[in-house]
Amino acid sequence: MTSKVILEELRLSFKREAEFTSLEKALHSLIAVFDLGHPNFDGFLFRDSSPNTLTLTTEGKFGPDEKQKIRVPYNVLDFPLNSSAHLLFHEFFHIQQRETKTLSISRPQREFEAYLEGLTSPRRPKINLPKSLRTQFIEALHKYYNQMDEQLKMKYKSQMELVESAV
Ligand SMILES: [Zn+2]
Repeated sequence: MTSKVILEELRLSFKREAEFTSLEKALHSLIAVFDLGHPNFDGFLFRDSSPNTLTLTTEGKFGPDEKQKIRVPYNVLDFPLNSSAHLLFHEFFHIQQRETKTLSISRPQREFEAYLEGLTSPRRPKINLPKSLRTQFIEALHKYYNQMDEQLKMKYKSQMELVESAV
């Protein structure tokens, strides 16, 4: 079996689990399989299904003891599993950021770091990052890099160049 077939089987097994137990339980199985998690993670919230866009967000206050939830669309399991896994990794990185960082760190910097992590970290899900999602991540990296002030741009310049040379 190709990895694509295995991933599709796995996605269908999560869908079955959601049907027989709950979507929340199935998503907990999903993050366990891809080794995602954080002590401050406190479960999922849901938003209306959207046929074409998979939008995930992290919700919670900033601080070491603040609990965080990840909001996903009800039809999250209809999207390719490698997209869901990599987008969940992005949100779990935000949970990690919220544990240690305050709101004084700008949104462009937080997003830049999260997209950089999503493109380069050895802790990323051990499955292929879909090409379209990779393109989206690189575009976001540029967008948030350009929104940072000069001092921050200097700080991340070499990492930015590394990503660009790998494209
Ligand atoms: Zn983000």
